Parts: sequence; C-alpha cells; structure tokens
Amino acid sequence: MNPNIAQKLARPAILNLKPYSSAREEFTGNEGIFLDANESPFNKPWNRYPDPFQQRLRQRIAEMKGVEKENIILGNGSDETIDMLFRTFCEPGEDKVLSVSPTYGMYKVSAGINGVDYETVLLNDDFSLPVEQLLDKADENTKLLFLCSPNNPTGNRFNDDDMRVLIKQFPGLVVVDEAYVDFSSGGSWVQALKEYPNLVVLQTLSKAWGLAAIRLGMAFASPEIISLLMKVKPPYNVNTLTQEKALEALLDPDVLTGRVDEIIHERDILMKSLSVVSVVKKVFPSDANFFLVQVDNPDEVYDYLLKRGIIVRNRSREPLCAGCLRISVGTPEQNQYLIEVLMAYPDGIQGNKAAEHWKPIADWLVTPPRRAVRTRKTKETDITVEIDLDGNAKADINTGLGFYDHMLEQIARHSGCDLTVQVKGDLHVDEHHTLEDTAIALGEAFAEALGNKMGIERYGFALPMDDCAAMVLLDFGGRPELVWDAKFKREKVGELPTEMFEHIFKSFAIGAKCNLYIKAKGKNEHHKIEAIFKALARAIRMAIKRETGADFLPSTKGLL
Ligand code: PMP
Repeated sequence: MNPNIAQKLARPAILNLKPYSSAREEFTGNEGIFLDANESPFNKPWNRYPDPFQQRLRQRIAEMKGVEKENIILGNGSDETIDMLFRTFCEPGEDKVLSVSPTYGMYKVSAGINGVDYETVLLNDDFSLPVEQLLDKADENTKLLFLCSPNNPTGNRFNDDDMRVLIKQFPGLVVVDEAYVDFSSGGSWVQALKEYPNLVVLQTLSKAWGLAAIRLGMAFASPEIISLLMKVKPPYNVNTLTQEKALEALLDPDVLTGRVDEIIHERDILMKSLSVVSVVKKVFPSDANFFLVQVDNPDEVYDYLLKRGIIVRNRSREPLCAGCLRISVGTPEQNQYLIEVLMAYPDGIQGNKAAEHWKPIADWLVTPPRRAVRTRKTKETDITVEIDLDGNAKADINTGLGFYDHMLEQIARHSGCDLTVQVKGDLHVDEHHTLEDTAIALGEAFAEALGNKMGIERYGFALPMDDCAAMVLLDFGGRPELVWDAKFKREKVGELPTEMFEHIFKSFAIGAKCNLYIKAKGKNEHHKIEAIFKALARAIRMAIKRETGADFLPSTKGLL
C-alpha cells in the first residue's frame, strides 16, 4: 500500500493549512520571563498554558506501547480524536465513513456534526464482521472505516484474520477503537502500525485505567497521519491537570493489571450467576468490562432496576440486540446486589422469599471468593503478595532470599492456599527489611482475603514434625499477639539470620491480626524453622476452613 496514503486521503484544506502556532510552541525552554502568551503572572503554576504537544506524556505512552512519540496524538477523551479524524480526512457533503451496526454511537454523531455520510453494515448474527459486505460498500469517497474491538455494545472482540483482511483491502483509513482492549484476551493492533500505513488505533484512559474523569484519549498511527491530525487539534486540548494525573497513573502499570484481573474475575462470576437467574434469557460472551443480557421485557426490567437504584444501559432498540440490556461490571458488592435484585424480579427482594433459583446464588453470595492482592512499597522494599485461600497450594515466591522462598513455599504447600510473593528488597543493606516487610504484607493479605470471616473455623493448631517438635497455635481473632518459644544456636540458616525468626512471625501476626503461639524444640536448625513454617501452614489451613455453615461467625461478639 502507498505509504503516502495519509496525504492522499486528507482534505485539501488541511494539506494546505498553516496551523496555529501557539506561544508555548515557539519557545520551548523551561526558564525565562514569560511575557509571550498574555497569561497572568500570578497564581502559579495554573497561570501557564499546558504543553500543547504533551511531550512528557506522549514519551511515557510511547515507551509503554513500544512505539515512537511521533506515532501518538492525544485528545480530550478518545471522542475528540474521533472528531479530529473526521475534520482531517472527510470533506463535508462529499466524503463518507463506514462502520458496522450495532457499534459505539459516537462515530455516527461525529459524522453528523461534520456533515459526513455515515454508512453501516449489519454485523453477522454471531456479532462477527461482515468482511465482504464492508469491502463491497467502500468506494473512493469512503475515507474511514470504524471498527470497535472489543465492540460496544456487543462485547466481542473481532477475529484477527477478518480484521487483517479489512485493514489490507479497505481503500481508506481503518480506525480500530480499542477502548476495551485491556479486558480482552487478544493483543492490541498498535503493534501492527509499521505494517499497515492506513491503520489508526484509538485507546483511552477512561475504562481499564479508571480515569474517565480526566478525559484522555490516545490515537496511534503513522507519523504522516499523526502530523496531519496535529494540524487540526486545538492548541491546548489536553489540560495540565490531565497531563499530570495521567503521568502519575502511568508510572504504575501494575495497578492496571491488578484491576483488570479483578474486573475480569468479577465479570465471569457475574455472568455465570446471571445465567441462572430466571428473568435472564441469555448472557452474551464478553471480552470487555460489560456484557449484554437478554430479557423478555427489557423496558420493564430496566425500570425495575432503576427504581432500586441500579442503572444499566437499555440497548434493546439496537439492531441484533432485541431484549438486551448492557451491564457494566461493578464492585463485588454492587454485582451481588444486582444479582439479588434480579433474582427477586418482578416483586423486589422483600416479596420474593421463595425464589426458586435462589439457592445456588445464595450459596455463592455467602461464600464469595477469598482472594487478596496486597502491595507494599517503601524506600526499602517493593512487595506484591497475592493469595487465594481456596486455591490449590500453588506457590510462586521470589524474595531474593532462597531460604525464605523455601519457607514461604511451605505455607502455600501445607495450607492449600495459592500464594504469589514478589519482593524487591534492599538486600544490599541486609535482609532485615525484606524479611519483616514481606511477613507484614503476607499477614495483611491473609487478613484481607479472610474478609468478614463468616463461616471460618477461626482456630488452628499443629503438632510434631520430623525430628523436631513444632507447635503453632493460631487464632484469626482480630488481635495481634505472638508468644515465641524457640531457641536457635546457629547465627544463620541459609542466608536468614536466626535472630530475625521471631520478628518475622511477629510481623505476620500484626499484618494478619492474629494470635500466634509458637513453640519448637529439636537439634537440626534447618528442620526446626522449616517445621515451624509447616506447622504455621497447617494451622492456617485449619483456621481458614469454611465448614461451620457460611452464615455462622465463630464468635459471641458478632465481629471478628
Ligand atoms: N470508544 C468506545 C468504544 C467507547 O465505548 C467510549 C466510551 N463509552 C469511547 C470510545 C469514549 O472514550 P473517551 O472517554 O476516551 O472519550
């Protein structure tokens, strides 16, 4: 394909346009007495216009996405980048754009605002792309093809081969809107930019990043396309607050991964639960943070939910979406409430005590998954602990201290929990901070995963192991306490100083808010400490077990 496709497709007015040159653009230094932009000299730093080209932010995004800064333009939400595409490439009254139906509504609105014809082809019944029909419909005036993948509102990601055929054969620019790509199992098309000069990829911080309020959208494309869009964008379209907030958020991409995992996990539970609710006729698969459900009477169900404070999106008038409501995944509590309320349709929760499908969902509601992700970042350590109390004893431990890894593996192995511990500690100083902070984070992860502690056994104890006798008594009762009765003669076991052992368990007890009574006797020092870790794991296993009936709290206080 001709690499100058951008020039070929652009509106002549834009090709010939000499863009506005802003004061901040002409002088790019940091220091000086700024008397060039008619700003106020007072009220620093807000008196100054923002960087019109968002150099730092674009650089950071470029690094994250593995592209160059010149491949990126930023907008006031991706809605603004959509509008920029129209204004750059579509001659009002002459050109047209193409998309599928149903899809995100803003392409049509932006086309309308810009006086450009908007044509669509109906998706196939399974929501896949009608590739041939789309190609048949395009002519030399069809400048843009919008493909939203994962698609809003259908929730599915389009097949990669279909996409490739369209990108290769469509005569204009193919705009892939990846607003929901972080939730999807496939990768991003940003990586294919070098291959396809007519490809534009849109992303946003509004969804997975949880930053809809700051309005930051991104368009990725060839430098030729980006430089044309740059001519069209308003000079200071991304304000300073947004640039700063985005930079701060992008420093910590791990937060995104954690949140996305949690939403996907919740989505799967919510979809599964709703599939057994009688008012729901069908739950559609999803690669996004929302999904469609089909009901017999969507308007009524919509109003019913609204009256109970739950707002979903009624998409039942969209093509191929008869009876469909679109539901975004919320917090576990919000999702549980939604399930309860839908279970009780049409009478509401009060009047529906005997709902026939109640049992499986009620079981799930009172025994929700017990997982936690705990991060702890200080100048001395950077720790992530992930735990699933109802796992399969899987361990992935990396503290930088081989012997400590081995001990923590015992906790996963013998408690039955899945445990991931990743630590970057200041081991060049010594082991102290790594040992202590890891134990605190581990304890906190247990406390968080235990949640309201409904149904747990609460107490655990364990008895002799190997040639050593190690006893660990444990109570997840909410108050931290350690009684330590173990002596070590050697200075170190592995690379761990034995004087730190008591400290490790004290730190764990504080983090987990539990009582620990630890007693160990024996000759071999390695065995002795290993026996303590194993006994702790066994005690945990007993204490976290949910057997007494999920609505039972093992305390007369009513709170643990
Ligand atoms: N693209 C799609 C597919 C969307 O669903 C939305 C918002 N609902 C947007 C873009 C708009 O994103 P932004 O908040 O960045 O303008």
